[in-house]
Amino acid sequence: MTALLIRDIRPMGGAPADILIEGGRIARIAPAINAPGVAVEDGGGAIAVPGLVEAHTHLDKTLMGMGWYANAVGADLGAMIDNERAERRRLNHDPHRQSMRHALALAGNGTTHIRSHVDVDTEAGLAAIEGVLQTREALRGIVEIEIVAFPQSGLMIRPGTADLLDRAMSLGADLVGGLDPCGIDRDPKGHLDTIFDIAERHGRGIDIHLHEAGELGAFSMELILDRTRALGMKGQVAISHAFCLGMPDWPRTEALLAALAEQDVAVLTTGAPSREVPSVRRVLDAGLRMGAGCDGVLDTWNPWNRPDMLDRARILAQKNNFRSDADVALALHVCSTGGAEVMGVADHRLEEGRPADLALLPGTTLAEAVATGGPVFLTLKGGQVTGRNGHPVMEAP
Ligand SMILES: [Zn+2]
Repeated sequence: MTALLIRDIRPMGGAPADILIEGGRIARIAPAINAPGVAVEDGGGAIAVPGLVEAHTHLDKTLMGMGWYANAVGADLGAMIDNERAERRRLNHDPHRQSMRHALALAGNGTTHIRSHVDVDTEAGLAAIEGVLQTREALRGIVEIEIVAFPQSGLMIRPGTADLLDRAMSLGADLVGGLDPCGIDRDPKGHLDTIFDIAERHGRGIDIHLHEAGELGAFSMELILDRTRALGMKGQVAISHAFCLGMPDWPRTEALLAALAEQDVAVLTTGAPSREVPSVRRVLDAGLRMGAGCDGVLDTWNPWNRPDMLDRARILAQKNNFRSDADVALALHVCSTGGAEVMGVADHRLEEGRPADLALLPGTTLAEAVATGGPVFLTLKGGQVTGRNGHPVMEAP
């Protein structure tokens, strides 16, 4: 693999330096590196950070490039789920093409790793899984994609879904997903026993959507913890949203966080402005791994989210009432190294010897980059330039 010298960047917003990349890894970080004959990129004084990590999204849902979606469905979860299935049919939605558009938009704007939930249901079967698997192959070397087989329409209320989840895992999905065991399936034992059984048989982890608020969510969380403990799945389970951790009963939340830490259950957040969400500071202080994501982008659910992890860091910082530069930088950390830790990418740091997965951000400090936003100046995956000025180098279909 060819070498590359990036001149004039500031690692994590610090003093100016150059980065020499060899064999897809960071070979040296130092001022004025002398590397004759090596290709050079001018960093223009940008801040270098480890590549951004989109750790909770839905690549199979976006309507990017298909015109404005006029949403008439409102905010009821069940109605939104039914509406999406119907609209996918009506719009002749192509999960491969759409996931390519979404993933490349992320890759062009600083993202090097994506965890995507992908719908599995008895109506569309495995079409979305197959489409995103194709995208994962097409984008190998550009962005790493982890796939969660996700029973969006429910599991116990739709017989046949469990078999489809099982087949999705055999096809190449990385994790088993789940969804509100009480709120959607109204059968928490059945739902959780089923997804833990599939995960155990395939030797894979779990990432479960838990929107259930307050005490109901806490109850589901305890059932998840029981099974994690009983099956010896410590470190292999993540809970997305975990809105119940945002409830005001702090002694209750503190005990839940301690139990999650004891089983190394990770938390993924979107910092949703419309909901109570887990506090970044409290989750990290409890010793949990924590990542963030934009959730679905330009889909039938809402028009708000953008394929932009720097923007997500801003939303997360605002939602957490972060004001100091150190706190705002912490939000960015969750959108990068934090998400990588949840995805099992342990060496996602700006250090010599680590993979050259980088984002070069505009701004003079990390907090300024978050506050003022992109576009990300340059994105590199394994030492290859994958994005410039917010646009992917590879053209989307
Ligand atoms: Zn989601």
